[in-house]
Amino acid sequence: MSRVSALYDLQQIDSKIDANVSRTAFLNQLLSDTSPLDAARQTVSDAEAALVSARSQLKDLESTAQKQQQHANDLEKKLYGGQIKGNKEMAAAQQEIETFRQRKKETDDQTVEAMLTLEDAEANLKAARAKLTQTEKEVEQGSAGHRQELGQLQAELTGLQAQRVKDLRMVMPPDVPVYEKLRQQKQGVAVAEVIYGKMCGKCRVELPMAKQREVKGGTTLVTCPNCGRILYHKF
Ligand SMILES: [Zn+2]
Repeated sequence: MSRVSALYDLQQIDSKIDANVSRTAFLNQLLSDTSPLDAARQTVSDAEAALVSARSQLKDLESTAQKQQQHANDLEKKLYGGQIKGNKEMAAAQQEIETFRQRKKETDDQTVEAMLTLEDAEANLKAARAKLTQTEKEVEQGSAGHRQELGQLQAELTGLQAQRVKDLRMVMPPDVPVYEKLRQQKQGVAVAEVIYGKMCGKCRVELPMAKQREVKGGTTLVTCPNCGRILYHKF
């Protein structure tokens, strides 16, 4: 194994570890995200409140209609029972009965509207509860899948870390800090493979002939003149 191929192997394993760690973080974030459930619960809560309000409104209207009817009936009873005397008083009573009947009619119209609103509120609540159940099911299934994957990732990571220890032993000690520093500077990728025999596989810049020859040797650390990564030529 050449000096550079040892670094390349280490890079391969580190890239796998990075991907594993990143995926693990992503899954943990998904597992801790309660927003879909929160939203579905809020919708149910809002629909419950709307239903309570619609029921109360209907009850009020029914009570109002009853009072209006009662008032008109009482007055009518008095009028025809002869309790109200005098033409003026009788005309006034007749007028009042008419007014209350008209009001009752308006209340009845509002009651029909309120019944429709109540039906809508009931349907909305039913839909919101169904959606919540569905969301709970999806979240549970999703979470089970995520947890299973996390378990696999954890097992893989243990294997990768063991492999890394082996790979690191093959790297020349002075190359380790150079590699680590480059990893930090270059988004985790310190070693780039040469492609088509002449191009940096990472930044895709063509290497000068002298560099190409140097890289093929594999005994010295040659860096890409453009991106600065250690170049590796596979045979
Ligand atoms: Zn490059």
